[in-house]
Amino acid sequence: MAMATIEHWARLTGPELTTLVERDPVAILPVAAIEQHGPHLPLDTDVVIGHGLLQAAADRLADDGSELAAVILPTLALGSSLEHTGFAGTLSLSAEQMIAQIRAVGAGVARAGIRRLLLFNSHGGNKAELDIAALQLRHDYELLVTKANYFRFARPSVDLPADELAHGLHGGALETAMMLYLDSEAVRRDALANYKSLGANRAAAGLTLGPEGDAGFAWRAEDLHPAGVTGNAMLADAEIGHRLVEGFAARLSEIVRETASFDLSVFEAR
Ligand SMILES: [Zn+2]
Repeated sequence: MAMATIEHWARLTGPELTTLVERDPVAILPVAAIEQHGPHLPLDTDVVIGHGLLQAAADRLADDGSELAAVILPTLALGSSLEHTGFAGTLSLSAEQMIAQIRAVGAGVARAGIRRLLLFNSHGGNKAELDIAALQLRHDYELLVTKANYFRFARPSVDLPADELAHGLHGGALETAMMLYLDSEAVRRDALANYKSLGANRAAAGLTLGPEGDAGFAWRAEDLHPAGVTGNAMLADAEIGHRLVEGFAARLSEIVRETASFDLSVFEAR
């Protein structure tokens, strides 16, 4: 039976990578952040969630009988977290450094002869830099660059109130639930609390301009709540986390598959 091959870039030798490249693999770059997530979650929360979703997606691909080949690049742990620099623990690159870092990795991927790159992002603040770097890599190297931000995926159906789903952007029920499932010892349970965000308060007052949505204001975490967290972490449990991880991973595995089979002749047609 055909088997998907999923390797880790840094664990291969150079010649082994060259052999893998003959199979036209997808290179997957996990992009995350090291930043404050309140008193209940560790600074590497976005790294843990990104790795958890990618592992669950890899498990699905390994089982599906396809001949797909993929190679997972070393995680870019530091991201663009200017909105969280008002709190201890945040390590942030500038937007320019973030773009430069993704371009440098993309250049190495292209030099190795790979033509498919998937940027898999688990931190909202990285999205703009991902867009800019991806287009530049497409321009510079004729790479297919897929941008996948899990927080933009259709949300798996879970038992959480609509206002938490809309406004629990950072350290709320969603992230806390996934952490309870993926790395429960890392969650400081005695610090779980309800951090009601400025966005939720404005919506409750009938105002339409919030931190996200069709029009939004640029925000620092302390603008939304003095603790730097938004959402009700007390609503989280591991079962909700399990459903979220499996649902997001199902979509991610589909994106990997379609990146692997994407017809690259569209780049050669002109
Ligand atoms: Zn986060």
